[in-house]
Amino acid sequence: MAVQTVAGNTAAAAPAVDLGPAVALSCRECGERFELGPLFACASCFGPLEVAYDLPTGSPEELRERIEAGPDNIWRYAPLLPVPADVAEKPNINPGFTKLVKADNLARELGVTGGLYVKDDSGNPTHSFKDRVVAIAVEAARAFGFTTLSCSSTGNLAGAVGAAAARAGLRSCVFIPHDLEQGKVVMAAVYGGELVGIEGNYDDVNRFCSELIGDPLGEGWGFVNVNLRPYYGEGSKTLAYEICEQLGWRLPDQIVIPIASGSQLTKIDKGFQELIKLGLVEDRPYKIFGAQAEGCSPVSAAFKAGHDVVRPQKPNTIAKSLAIGNPADGPYVLDIARRTGGAVEDVTDEQVVDAIKLLARTEGIFGETAGGVTLGVTKKLVEAGVIDPALTTVVLNTGDGLKTLDAVSATSQATATIKPSLDAFRAAGLAAG
Ligand SMILES: *Cc1c(COP(=O)(O)O)cnc(C)c1O
Repeated sequence: MAVQTVAGNTAAAAPAVDLGPAVALSCRECGERFELGPLFACASCFGPLEVAYDLPTGSPEELRERIEAGPDNIWRYAPLLPVPADVAEKPNINPGFTKLVKADNLARELGVTGGLYVKDDSGNPTHSFKDRVVAIAVEAARAFGFTTLSCSSTGNLAGAVGAAAARAGLRSCVFIPHDLEQGKVVMAAVYGGELVGIEGNYDDVNRFCSELIGDPLGEGWGFVNVNLRPYYGEGSKTLAYEICEQLGWRLPDQIVIPIASGSQLTKIDKGFQELIKLGLVEDRPYKIFGAQAEGCSPVSAAFKAGHDVVRPQKPNTIAKSLAIGNPADGPYVLDIARRTGGAVEDVTDEQVVDAIKLLARTEGIFGETAGGVTLGVTKKLVEAGVIDPALTTVVLNTGDGLKTLDAVSATSQATATIKPSLDAFRAAGLAAG
């Protein structure tokens, strides 16, 4: 052909990527900076990459007003996220601004007097916190021209990707361990994308996806938690923003967060730090606590042993959404828990079930097993005197109990089954008085 371009694949004609205030990727370990793109590891030291920003410069009052005037979803924080300014007009699932429930009944039961809140992320479009991270990854996928969305998932992520891809008009093909809960499988499949069960645990699924990414078979695919991971992770910051805004632009004193890969916990800390830097909240100390199930507790084990490295485990717990035996952000979680004066703790599956029922019974909130892990750890740490009952405490419920019915179905059944007669009801001993 007559038209000649610069030799090689320098992509000279590629349009500039517009991801709003995001200006670069920077290495968490060595600080080297890279252009915005589908990269996830530093070319020099293999450290994880993070989004770097040009954050807004106006007064905190102006920024607060701008945020409060925004939509009732995560896009109210668009000036602090790697998304284009007109993001709210694009087809996305628009998660966030979920309820922060003042849990007075639960507080009484636990003996917490300083104010106890449940941030209930089961209210997101696909009923877990994963909609937050996926919504951001979709914008990155669009910006980089990916036409297929993919992920390795412990369950909730697959559903969030399926739904977001459907809405954005992208193809999706997601990978899960083959033995997940029915509720998670159906939630992931119903949106019409491809769903592939892998014979292995999550860590096997993740390894498989890393291979697929480097292979022509996966070309043009945006893996939300692999090659789009730096963008994906930023979605969790919105939990920090919302909690502070809902507390009246104030940091909580203590927050308890479940740990799978540890991404959510590290990004909530990043969100708090940004709010402090921007002057949107007063700079006061806060403590971050991490929660795991005993059957998959690599970070908690390292915390208790005083180690800086996390030794991988083979997961065996009913809290499948948290069953990552080799958590990518484990060492950073340890840093944050230690730096803020928090802790990482774990609970047994039995305690998980008890905590699911405790939350349901006291506050009318039916959380999934991850919520049971988080509340179970909260209870354990209050009882141990590690969480201060006189301080404001926020507990995350990151998913909906309808997706993990098996955890409680054996012990949550009809109180009685009777004939439709008053005599039968009297005989059952349930009548008033
Ligand atoms: C994925 C997930 C988490 C935490 O995930 P991280 O990998 O630690 O960010 C917590 N709760 C639920 C319900 C999840 O699905």
